[in-house]
Amino acid sequence: MTTTQEGGCQCGAVRFAVSGAPKFVANCHCQSCRKATGAACSTWVGFLAENTQWTRGAPAFFASSPGVKRGYCRDCGTPLSFAGEQWAGELHFLAGVFDNPEAFPPRTEAFTEDALSWAPRLHKDTE
Ligand SMILES: [Zn+2]
Ligand SMILES: [Zn+2]
Repeated sequence: MTTTQEGGCQCGAVRFAVSGAPKFVANCHCQSCRKATGAACSTWVGFLAENTQWTRGAPAFFASSPGVKRGYCRDCGTPLSFAGEQWAGELHFLAGVFDNPEAFPPRTEAFTEDALSWAPRLHKDTE
């Protein structure tokens, strides 16, 4: 069975769809994500790029560091996606921009060494 999930930006100009199970769902505590989203940490859902597609409009991209492309809506500014050379062949989406974010509870955390003292953290027994 192939499940499809859709999502998009706040204004609706950019929409996407993904199929299949995510490779991971992780809370990232790195400073780059913090700046990109404005949130203490951000939940990312990783897919094989071949299982994703932009279904309406197209994102603009910002290279937050060399080899990284962060996709966002040029109209409303919603951060949407992340692609990096370190994760070649993958496309990551922020959990919060899916139509049904409940489908993607985070399982792991990344860059916890950069975590803010007040950032929400997963229970130790899930790490
Ligand atoms: Zn938008
Ligand atoms: Zn990050």
